[in-house]
Amino acid sequence: MTFDFELLYSLLGRLIIVIIILIIILFIILLVFGKIFLKRGIVIFPKFLLFIIDTLYSPFKSIARLIKLDDHLIDDLSIQIRNDINKKKFAKIPANETLIFLPHCLRHKDCPATLQKEGVNCTCCGLCSIGVIKKKAEPKGYKLYIVPGSSFVKKIVMENKFKAVIGVACHEDLNQMMMLLSDFCPQGVLLKKTACYETKVDVSEVLKLINSKD
Ligand code: SF4
Repeated sequence: MTFDFELLYSLLGRLIIVIIILIIILFIILLVFGKIFLKRGIVIFPKFLLFIIDTLYSPFKSIARLIKLDDHLIDDLSIQIRNDINKKKFAKIPANETLIFLPHCLRHKDCPATLQKEGVNCTCCGLCSIGVIKKKAEPKGYKLYIVPGSSFVKKIVMENKFKAVIGVACHEDLNQMMMLLSDFCPQGVLLKKTACYETKVDVSEVLKLINSKD
């Protein structure tokens, strides 16, 4: 008996075409439902949307780039849907069981803080918004970390017991952090200005989350 390689290749080719068409259809569904969500604040099938974003994150980003769409759209949608889904549960988890991750790029260029094994050791010198957030968050029981990268986040997550998390970062980093910590009711705030240092965040948005547990 001889194996029919031609048939096998033909079947594989068809399978690949079906998968590509399916990914494009799911991408269109995401765009349509995402637009409704962003315009009207109504999330239709949020868990399904998050599932397809989590599963097809890289292909969706590639398609967005290919058709010259803003590829931040995928991250923004994912962040906003996750924020929406987790909002109520997040508010019920006590502050002392919640971690806050701030990016080190928020620091002022003359920041006097040093880098320790758990991130930047902010002294609340008053030069940047990190000190403002830290002063409000820590007395309430939150554990706040100023992290230079995702390896610090992973290490801190391994060493702490917690049930919820607040993250601040740029589109891609924030979405990936929220995907990684999706079991911990993540709430995310996007940076308003991104750069290597002296980035900006809407402090009132972060404080609103911090105070949502009062
Ligand atoms: S407030 Fe903290 S993080 Fe910001 S510049 Fe001062 S020491 Fe650095």
